[in-house]
Amino acid sequence: MAARVFLSRSVHLLSKGKTFPTLDPRTGEVIAHIAEGDAEDINRAVAAARKAFDEGPWPRMTAYERSKILLRLADLIEKHNDQIATLETWDTGKPYAQAAKIEVPMVVRLLRYYAGWADKIHGMTIPADGPYHVQTLHEPIGVAGQIIPWNFPLLMFSWKIGPALACGNTIVLKTAEQTPLSALYVANLLQEAGLPEGVLNIISGFGATAGASLCSHMDVDKLAFTGSTETGKTILELAAKSNLKPVTLELGGKSPFIVCEDADIDTAVEQAHFALFFNQGQCCCAGSRTYVHEKVYDEFLEKAKARALKRVVGDPFKSGTEQGPQIDSKQFDKIMKYIRSGVDSGATLETGGEQFGKKGYYIKPTVFSNVKDDMLIAQDEIFGPVQSILKFKDLDEVVRRANSSRYGLAAGVFSQNIDTANTLARALRVGTVWINCFDTFDAAIPFGGYKMSGQGREKGEYGLRNYLQVKAVVTPLKNP
Ligand code: ADP
Repeated sequence: MAARVFLSRSVHLLSKGKTFPTLDPRTGEVIAHIAEGDAEDINRAVAAARKAFDEGPWPRMTAYERSKILLRLADLIEKHNDQIATLETWDTGKPYAQAAKIEVPMVVRLLRYYAGWADKIHGMTIPADGPYHVQTLHEPIGVAGQIIPWNFPLLMFSWKIGPALACGNTIVLKTAEQTPLSALYVANLLQEAGLPEGVLNIISGFGATAGASLCSHMDVDKLAFTGSTETGKTILELAAKSNLKPVTLELGGKSPFIVCEDADIDTAVEQAHFALFFNQGQCCCAGSRTYVHEKVYDEFLEKAKARALKRVVGDPFKSGTEQGPQIDSKQFDKIMKYIRSGVDSGATLETGGEQFGKKGYYIKPTVFSNVKDDMLIAQDEIFGPVQSILKFKDLDEVVRRANSSRYGLAAGVFSQNIDTANTLARALRVGTVWINCFDTFDAAIPFGGYKMSGQGREKGEYGLRNYLQVKAVVTPLKNP
């Protein structure tokens, strides 16, 4: 079995020979025992990345050469699409079709996108006062520490490594302890792609040990993190207390999905359903506050409930399955607690609200109506298949309510009126506004949050900024 092969290869590379199990969310059974990296392994990985940056060919290679290596890696991932998607589904519980037809192809697309940037990164010449030739050099920052979550393991891996490698940085990346498999598979492809030794070091391990050591490391020049807001705060603190390395953070959300009275209701119902339930509700940008205009509220609610009842829950490897299990028992328990809190605080449970089946971490698609802004289910990130529907009367009111959140990651706006859509797009304090669509991701579109949803932007040209230093070079001109 593929996963066991990784284990026997990687275990002796790590210092203590310790392992941890990765579980199948369908059953809670062990898939494989994974070599566990700790502080000592982080030290070794950072030393390798440091050497590859300071002495190795990577930052000194021509940008075209780096680009070709990234393209080769993308080709190899594409070639191994089905094996990687199988591991992704096995480890996360997400539908196989989603992994195989959407996520792995997005990984490939993103690597090709950033491969295209590698030889288009350059500074400026600046007309300063006085007889000087002034130029800026855009240089790689150095060793990047990257920490990723379990909800989109390989996609988040690509968002992190794509821009960092295109700019010429070297990397130590820690995967989430729940989902180490797909990145380990890709680790086996790096050499074949031609990536020099030490450029990309992948560690499986836990946050409090391996993750924290990476964040505190004095030889790491930059951190990028995707995960919970709470952990994001810890990471920022560790960076500040060590060497003040810059940090980009992509954190939690409580994204409003606003359905105006003139919206195409059937499309809005389907997109609101997708916005919340996609990936078992485990998306940082999930449309988890569905605001519906009072004039269309009853119709929307009836259709949203009917759609949730139709949702196909089951084994993620079975064709036609829309929703698999949640990632683990911790998340399952947390979601069930929020469902109880919704009921206790007076929201109406329209459907769902309980475990699906008896094995694993499946939860029935759940819809609450009559949700009020001050309820916990309307304020906290639930990260599960729980849709909360709220009623509104006018635009000013919905803008105020949508913005009264500590988060600001994304929003959906459904209206046929261009003026309404433009007004909301400008008034909402979020990093992405999807108008009459949701979760439209593209390698070229920047993504990131306002407020406690994060710092900085990933993807697109903006994503390069996180991995570049700007150096000003000033030379007097002899004969101006
Ligand atoms: P969750 O609670 O859903 O697992 P986290 O934000 O805690 O979400 O986890 C996202 C990533 O952050 C994982 O790779 C995890 O190991 C890592 N992590 C957790 N705690 C820390 C920490 N103190 N320092 C560094 N990384 C951490």
